[in-house]
Amino acid sequence: MTKILQAEGNVGIEDTGDNTFVFEFQSSRYRSRALKESPWNFFRNLLIFKEPIGLKSLRLMDFEETTIWVQFHNIPLAFMHEDILLKLGRQIGMVVDLYRGENGLLQGRFARIRVRINITQPLKKCIRICAMRDEDDTIVLLVYGILPDFCYACGRLDHVYRDCEDD
Ligand SMILES: [Zn+2]
Repeated sequence: MTKILQAEGNVGIEDTGDNTFVFEFQSSRYRSRALKESPWNFFRNLLIFKEPIGLKSLRLMDFEETTIWVQFHNIPLAFMHEDILLKLGRQIGMVVDLYRGENGLLQGRFARIRVRINITQPLKKCIRICAMRDEDDTIVLLVYGILPDFCYACGRLDHVYRDCEDD
């Protein structure tokens, strides 16, 4: 884990049970990076970093939400505008960031939107949009930036297929 974080010798890790760990960073630089780039893909497991707030006990901390970059493919060029992309992003979660190219433009083969999602809810695979009246709907395909092992049956990130309790 410390190799993946590139913080060897700078972090202590303690297993506190229930699939939670306490990381103690020697350096605020590594700590900030771990938080900023969360979630991490650790051998195909989703690793979510959260900063403890106040005196909140570890048991009360919520790890059900994380932010993730999502690619939105097949968007009509006329829809590649900030306000429309924000609306599309809000269909899967709370929008945190919108990627712009080096020239500051949103144009490209696809849009990249960073979204806060609830990992206990099924991932959406696509969004249907109506580009023009009297025309067929357009299907916008979603590609998630970090894909750890997840449940292929119900689409949730917090367990794998063999542990699925969904009928
Ligand atoms: Zn499942």
